[in-house]
Amino acid sequence: MDDPALRAPHHDRRMSIPIMFQIDRAVPEAKDVVTLHFRGLLPYRPGQFYMVWLPGINQKPYSLSHHDAEGFGITIKRFGAFSRALSKAKKGDWVGFSGPYGNHFTITKGALFVGGGVGMASLSTAIDLTADARIIIGAVTAAGLVFRKRYASATLVTDDGSAGEKGFVTLPLQRLLDGTKKPPLVLACGPEPMLARVLDICRQAHVPCELSLERYMSCGFGICGKCVLGDRMVCYDGPVFRGEDLYKNEDFGVSKREKTGKKVSLTKSKH
Ligand SMILES: Cc1cc2nc3c(=O)[nH]c(=O)nc-3n(C[C@H](O)[C@H](O)[C@H](O)COP(=O)(O)OP(=O)(O)OC[C@H]3O[C@@H](n4cnc5c(N)ncnc54)[C@H](O)[C@@H]3O)c2cc1C
Repeated sequence: MDDPALRAPHHDRRMSIPIMFQIDRAVPEAKDVVTLHFRGLLPYRPGQFYMVWLPGINQKPYSLSHHDAEGFGITIKRFGAFSRALSKAKKGDWVGFSGPYGNHFTITKGALFVGGGVGMASLSTAIDLTADARIIIGAVTAAGLVFRKRYASATLVTDDGSAGEKGFVTLPLQRLLDGTKKPPLVLACGPEPMLARVLDICRQAHVPCELSLERYMSCGFGICGKCVLGDRMVCYDGPVFRGEDLYKNEDFGVSKREKTGKKVSLTKSKH
C-alpha cells in the first residue's frame, strides 16, 4: 500500500484523463452482480467514486468495493447497456479509471451499515475500516444479496423472505434504533426511496446518518448538471450527504433527473 511506485498520480478533480488497468479476475457475487478485480493501487477514501471508462462504449460512476495492498475492485449490477458490457468484460481487458471524485464516509467505531442491493458496493470499503461494525444487507430475493459471505455476521433481509427476515432493511434498522445499544452513526446506500425511509427512522431516533446517493451523471465533476439535487450536485457535494442536509433538500426522495436532464418523480411507496 505504501509503495509510491504503485500509486496512481495525484488527480485534480477536474482532470479526467483515465488511467488504464487490465482486469485481473472477475468474480460472480450475486444474481446479475459481478466484481472485477485489478492489480495496482488507486487513491481512495470509502464513499468516493471513480468514472469508469470502457473504451468505445461510455463512462459511468462506480465506487470501489475492494481496496487493499493487493489492488482494488468494482462491483457491478447489470441494469442497462453500460453495466451489461462492463460485467461481461474478461481477464486482460482494459478499463479506464478517472478520479477519485466526491466526498467520503466518516469512519466511526460501532457504526451501523445499511445496504440495499448493489448499494453494499459503496459501503464495503468503509465497513472494512470500521471496528465493531453492525451490518444489515437487503435485496429483493436471496439470490440478490451482495456480500453475504464476505460479511457472514450481517443481518439479512429480503422482500420475499427467501433469506433472513421478510420485508425491507428498515425493519431491523427500526428495531436496532429502538433498542438500548444505539449506534453512534448509521451509514446507508441503496435505492433512494429506501434512503428516505432510513433518514426518517434515524431522525425519529436522534441518531445521525450519512447517506450515499446514486444519481445519473455524465461527467463526475460538476459540469453536466444531471445529478442536481435541489441546490446541490451529487458528484460535487456528495455522493455522501449528512442526513440533516438531505432532510432540508427539496429533491431528495422526491424527484431525480433522467439522462436527458428531464426531471421525473421518485416514488416513496415501497420501503
Ligand atoms: C456515486 C455513484 C456510485 C455508483 N457506484 C456503483 C457501484 O458500485 N456499482 C453499481 O453497479 N452501480 C453503481 N452506480 C450506478 C452506475 O453508475 C450506473 O448508473 C449503473 O451501473 C447503471 O448504468 P447503465 O448504463 O447500465 O444503465 P442505465 O441505462 O443508466 O439504466 C438502465 C435502467 O436501469 C435503471 N437503473 C440504473 N441504476 C439503477 C439502480 N441503482 N437501481 C435501480 N435501477 C437502476 C435505470 O433507471 C434504467 O431504467 C453508482 C452511481 C453513482 C452516482
